[in-house]
Amino acid sequence: MEILIVEDEAEIAQLIQLYLEREGFACRSCRDGMTALKLWQEQPPDLIILDLMLPELDGLEVCARIRQKPGTKDPFILMLTAKGEELDRIIGLSTGADDYMVKPFSPKEMVARVRALLRRNLRQVGATVSYRTPHFLLDPEQRLAQRFDENQSPENLDLTTLEFDLLATFMSFPGRVWNRSQLIDKLWGNNFFGDERVVDTHVARLRKKIEPDPANPSFVKTVIGVGYKFEDG
Ligand code: CA
Repeated sequence: MEILIVEDEAEIAQLIQLYLEREGFACRSCRDGMTALKLWQEQPPDLIILDLMLPELDGLEVCARIRQKPGTKDPFILMLTAKGEELDRIIGLSTGADDYMVKPFSPKEMVARVRALLRRNLRQVGATVSYRTPHFLLDPEQRLAQRFDENQSPENLDLTTLEFDLLATFMSFPGRVWNRSQLIDKLWGNNFFGDERVVDTHVARLRKKIEPDPANPSFVKTVIGVGYKFEDG
């Protein structure tokens, strides 16, 4: 498994590399967006740790260019951001990143997130069934997610891999109440190390993209004291 680290702050880059190499990952690193694109094209890594604020070409642009050019190997992208406000902004932008971390973060947490993403790669089998409910269509083979309005006109949803799988899990069983550990098991497998509340973060991100009013969700509903359920129509 190869990881490309794109981070202009040398100390952070070294820390990330140290922890990942200790876990047996092969790492390359660079400090700016143009070099990142060059290294990605020369030899596509399995995963890119991508800082948002970079000289010349920022992380959003790097991410967009990689996603615009679907190759044989589409890397996972873990985006690093400096502040909470930046995070809110990039979630709204549908960047194509698979996960985000806010600095300062614990290196152990970062390793756990990297492992979680890469494990999903290995688990990417099956899940070729399409799901259709009155307002949504999910087609895993084409990686297509659409929402339909009252006139049945479709709008494409730009979901991360994780958000897509989360919605697919919900749509596979409308009305079922899922607790956090069941969702973690579905999405990451049973080797998940970390805080179960990560589920809440991903549900919040999914709601921002699929709910007309994310604060008052009509599809992905909270079941107090238990978890979540998906209902549509
Ligand atoms: Ca930076």
